Amino acid sequence: MRFRDIVGQEALKSRLINSVKENRISHAQMFLGSGNNGKLALAFAYAQYINCTHKVENDSCGVCESCRKYEAMSHPDLFFSFPVNTNKGSTTKVSKAKISKDPVSRDFLNDWKNFIALTNGYPNLYQWYQYIGVENKQGFISKEEARNIVHQLQFKAAEARYKVLIVWMPEKMNDTSANTLLKLIEEPPDNTLVFLVAEEKEKLLPTILSRVQTILVPPIEDKKLATYLQQKFPHLKKEELRDIVSLANGDVFRAKEIISNSDELKENFDLFVEWMRLCYKTGSLEGIKTWVEQVSKFGREKQKGFLTYTLRMIRESLLLNYGNDKLVRIMLHEETFLIKFAPFIHLKNAPIIQKNLDQAIYEIERNVAPASLFTDLSLQMSLLLKMNVAS
Ligand SMILES: [Zn+2]
Repeated sequence: MRFRDIVGQEALKSRLINSVKENRISHAQMFLGSGNNGKLALAFAYAQYINCTHKVENDSCGVCESCRKYEAMSHPDLFFSFPVNTNKGSTTKVSKAKISKDPVSRDFLNDWKNFIALTNGYPNLYQWYQYIGVENKQGFISKEEARNIVHQLQFKAAEARYKVLIVWMPEKMNDTSANTLLKLIEEPPDNTLVFLVAEEKEKLLPTILSRVQTILVPPIEDKKLATYLQQKFPHLKKEELRDIVSLANGDVFRAKEIISNSDELKENFDLFVEWMRLCYKTGSLEGIKTWVEQVSKFGREKQKGFLTYTLRMIRESLLLNYGNDKLVRIMLHEETFLIKFAPFIHLKNAPIIQKNLDQAIYEIERNVAPASLFTDLSLQMSLLLKMNVAS
């Protein structure tokens, strides 16, 4: 991640860049701020910049070997620690990890990489728990985890000038793991940087707080947030944008949440979720009938709008499911649903579903009776969602 990929925070970016130019990089720093203001992205971009071998004016180059490995999150000298829990028996189809005891970050490293790519470096804790399927349990950073990390950092850097450990949400450490981290900060191995990314400093040991240099990450500037949202959601009107920005308080996640709730697309989303659930569930013919009755009463344009929306969700699911996370353009509420739904859409059934939806749009334009059209479509959908990818 480069500084240019981060929304706003210009003053802070300059400060971090100058610390490198003036060769006064503190070995333990804490990026502290509430909400989704880009603090993890900043820590990441800072680490990438420090290790970039061909720095450009005020940013990392993005193309040197170090940058490429950083952006793929595969650099051997880059370490992450983040809250996890057991997820065995959960319904998630996203996480490949099935952990039944002693969970550590390493178990979920692939999920973490995908999740960071999906959220463009703006992770939210609740979504993360959904993503890895720990569901209603709280995540934590265990003492085994802290010990693992300390052990890993004892070795010489494989390639980079600095080894970097980024700890996301150190608040989730208990006292034992926090004390292990403290020792690491007090007696760091050579050329090792530790960046904590935290929200609530009250939940951290005072001894840790006194040992790290704290970088307060403020909310994103309104103007920058507005520009970012305008690019991401071009359909938003000026007044809507102004309202959202004023409510969001410099928090990307909050802004997306507001957009999700206020948007007229919400109705299509609710219909879509209900439809997919009914189609997937066995013995829900009555439910499908009621749903079809409701949709049949809509005007033609609204029906077409809904089917077009469904087409988009199927396409996004396919992209999400095949790992093209960065291509996915979806809103927050959609993201949360699609994380669970996407695995049911694959290369076998997606083309048929898309063809059926296209055909239905075509027929609506030609005044085919909506009740039978949506009934047929639902029954086909029901079979297609249960189609096995290998069949
Ligand atoms: Zn570079």
